[in-house]
Amino acid sequence: MRPVRFRAVVPAAGFGTRMDAGRPKQYLPLAGATVLDHALRPLLAHPGLERLVVAIAPDDLGFGELAVASDPRVDAVTGGNTRAESVAAGLAALGAQDRQAIVVVHDAARPCLDAADLERLLAESTPPDGGLLAIPVRDTLKRADRDGRVACTVDRAGLWQALTPQAFPLAVLRDALAAAVGAGAVTDEAAAMERAGHAPRLVEGNPANIKVTRPGDLPLAEAILAAREGRTQ
Ligand code: C5P
Repeated sequence: MRPVRFRAVVPAAGFGTRMDAGRPKQYLPLAGATVLDHALRPLLAHPGLERLVVAIAPDDLGFGELAVASDPRVDAVTGGNTRAESVAAGLAALGAQDRQAIVVVHDAARPCLDAADLERLLAESTPPDGGLLAIPVRDTLKRADRDGRVACTVDRAGLWQALTPQAFPLAVLRDALAAAVGAGAVTDEAAAMERAGHAPRLVEGNPANIKVTRPGDLPLAEAILAAREGRTQ
């Protein structure tokens, strides 16, 4: 079967202040490379990838140092003040002449995506709504009051945690993001698509696809990658 062809945008223009690491979290060392290298790896390894745009900060010093920067399929653009603006800059660089083009958006801070999840996402994210990797909420959820006490328990039935990558028709996502900019928190692409009236498919992903957010996440990502490496040897 021919692979699904796609383009990709990786927003990497944030700093990750919660890591408290003195440099952007996507450039922290992880399993012999950087967090960003590992985030890009499954996308670059997929035979259907046509082009990949990484959105970097205006003062970025790290991207040019990475080996992937010289991959002919890879370009860098300057991102924006928010994640949504960075993704929009990446989409603009990809162009949208081909109305059928699919774009996959993946956080620079998620280094543990596995190839099987990417494949399922591409297979199930059909136009025009697209889809996203997500996991059903497992824990009991509490809403906090202002004093850090439980205000109430939130029913978790039907609740999912959104991950990346997320895959959409490129032109539809571009229009949805343009309409959503300035309309409050758009913390993922699916939120912009929802605002535009679409219902993206929830594709159940691997909970190991963590986002590196706090210092303790790095050793966890290291362990996940090592366990996976061990399985493939
Ligand atoms: O901060 P958070 O972990 O939610 O960021 C998710 C992704 O969005 C990261 O890969 C980060 O680099 C990216 N981002 C961006 N431009 C911004 C803010 C965040 O590309 N202005």
